[in-house]
Amino acid sequence: MPNQFTTTNWLCDKSALVESIVHQGDRGKKRQLILDILGNKCCRCGFSDYRALQIDHVNGNGAAETRGLSQKTYLNKILRSLQNGEGKYQLLCANCNWIKRYENNERNDTTRDNRWRRPARLGR
Ligand SMILES: [Zn+2]
Repeated sequence: MPNQFTTTNWLCDKSALVESIVHQGDRGKKRQLILDILGNKCCRCGFSDYRALQIDHVNGNGAAETRGLSQKTYLNKILRSLQNGEGKYQLLCANCNWIKRYENNERNDTTRDNRWRRPARLGR
């Protein structure tokens, strides 16, 4: 996790804000807070357009964690984890996230196996 020290300081300064958003914030506010805490940019390439930033589970297995949880509950779980300094989450842009999944052979319920195969060579 990049900048753990800075993240911890940020959370100390904003602990009241984090608490109020955990309890009352809507999904958009929770997501924005998580992006703020994680530095608002892809930790691999630095891409910073929030529209394509994704909250990534560092060790993979994010799909198993989200199963059965509402998005709001899941976002709260991430916020609590960040508060506890567990270092389980990072920001990746969509490209880096897909590349990481490909490299780690991570799969989840929304991806069919054949998406992970290298494209077949045509014309041979
Ligand atoms: Zn990236």
